Amino acid sequence: MCGIVGMVTAGRDMAADLVGGIRRLEYRGYDSSGVALLNGKGIIVAKDIGGPSDLVGKQTFDGLHGTTGIAHTRWATHGGVTRKNAHPHLSCDGQVAVVHNGVLSNYRELRAALEARGHTFRSETDTEVFAHLVEEKLKGGLAPREAIRASALEVEGTYAFAVVIHTHPDRLWAMRKESPLVVGFGADRTVIASDPLALADACPDVLYLDDGELVEVASGSAEVFKIATGARVDRSRRRLEGDFAVPERGAYPHFMLKEMAEATLAVRAALGSDPDAVTRGAEKLLAAKRVFFTGMGTAYHMAIFGHQLVAQWAKRFCPVVTADELPGAVTFEPGDLVLGVSQSGETYDTLRAIRAAKAAGGVALGIVNVAGSSMARECDQTLLQGAGPEIAVLATKSALSQAVVAARLALEAGRLSGGLTAARHAELAAELASLPALLDEWRPQIERDCREAAARFLGLEKWFFLGRGVFASVAQEGALKFKEVTYRHAEGMAAGFLKHGTISLIDGEMGTAIFVPPASTGELRAMTLYALEEVRSRGGPLLAVGALSESERRHVDAVIGMPGKGELSDAFLQIVAGQYLAYYTAKALGRDIDRPRALAKSVTVP
Ligand code: GLU
Repeated sequence: MCGIVGMVTAGRDMAADLVGGIRRLEYRGYDSSGVALLNGKGIIVAKDIGGPSDLVGKQTFDGLHGTTGIAHTRWATHGGVTRKNAHPHLSCDGQVAVVHNGVLSNYRELRAALEARGHTFRSETDTEVFAHLVEEKLKGGLAPREAIRASALEVEGTYAFAVVIHTHPDRLWAMRKESPLVVGFGADRTVIASDPLALADACPDVLYLDDGELVEVASGSAEVFKIATGARVDRSRRRLEGDFAVPERGAYPHFMLKEMAEATLAVRAALGSDPDAVTRGAEKLLAAKRVFFTGMGTAYHMAIFGHQLVAQWAKRFCPVVTADELPGAVTFEPGDLVLGVSQSGETYDTLRAIRAAKAAGGVALGIVNVAGSSMARECDQTLLQGAGPEIAVLATKSALSQAVVAARLALEAGRLSGGLTAARHAELAAELASLPALLDEWRPQIERDCREAAARFLGLEKWFFLGRGVFASVAQEGALKFKEVTYRHAEGMAAGFLKHGTISLIDGEMGTAIFVPPASTGELRAMTLYALEEVRSRGGPLLAVGALSESERRHVDAVIGMPGKGELSDAFLQIVAGQYLAYYTAKALGRDIDRPRALAKSVTVP
């Protein structure tokens, strides 16, 4: 997934700011990192295994100077996690340095051809071909921008590239195809980055590159060109919207814990975000011929959460398909609508699904946290979450705010479609509005119960997370959180599915966490409790998440209590419980909580 930053200044040393920039993008990958700097004496490359914050204060990133440079924090797709494979990559003559986010699908052919023409490769990455291509074009007499553009025309796949050339220490070039890139303008610098978060507060004005565009950046200026034709593109700067201040961890030991503590703020922001956008979104949803909900990872689970509510309240069934599979499973037609959920708004698979629907004449709705992201710009209607930046790789407050926005959309669709009576609509709206207060009241107890449950079940290596109805999505999300950060297996599924085969795994070593709906749900709760009994009959350790009666509590080994005031509010608080359970289990196991192994927050590769 990788984070890219590049910076040009008017002669000021910016090495520390450049490293600071990729530190803020560490959520995008952190297996290795590096910089290439120009300081009048050629290109200096410093890189190693480890995320930028691991390398700061170590020899790699110490004592660096430069007035122009590019930097990278990597999430390997091609080639192992080694120093050699870390970006930047150089041409044979060391005159061209490149960093890349994405994958080049024809790199094998290009590499073979380049090797046949005498180029020597130093890494196993797909990226390196680009440095050699640019070198060849420069040697063939092309000017830098044309050399880079001609090279871009030869590579297939997805990319954001940033390039510096030894002979031009006062500029850099960047281009994109299906990977994000923004240009930021500050008083003393012009910056390119994968995410405006890297710009910190230094660049109030930005310019977003579109796919197929190349930008030539010099101090104070940025000119945009079409890669295909070389024609100049008129693109004006705009004010950077959104909150891109760099969050501090403060007294919290982990960003994940801090961000879970910010759940109330995130929910409040999601409750308050643009009501007209919600109404327009609901109108579009109801007017569409067919509707598909989609997302990946946590966002996919929140899409399932939303689809359950739309089904219940607007009486409209909207199938949910993971975004990687959706374009293959559905032949989109005019009149179709895709609702994509993505925290970053840059998730490759979700963007691809949205683009496929739009290309066929369909409509795209987005639930997105990052204003100005590709999804926020490309969707016909975007519902912004307003959760603020989330630094920990695991989605916590952003997941809750996605669920709130999805619930608001479902509620509005219920009102407009007549699926909800006015009285029921008012009841549900009041329940949604009560969430911030309920979160404040219950979070400390949920946290305590989760800490105790984590300690009690620490010996269990494998889990089922079960729930029904909207609680099935809550269980699936809980299982994902648990796997991501504890590295222990947890399988989330609809509780009714257990008896159809998977129950054979239940024994004293197989934990089951069961997400129990409140009493008001009647049959839904009764059916969930059947699964609880089935597990208990087979001697499986049981953790119940829900409002249980005294007698029910005797049937399980531990309980994470819930208020039991309503289906919606319990479901929200159970998402919170899944997060704390994962956190405290991971903490007890000594895991790297904010940066779990092999993960990255924003998945911008196919
Ligand atoms: N394909 C490049 C590599 O493996 C970049 C990976 C990425 O963007 O995640 O180094």
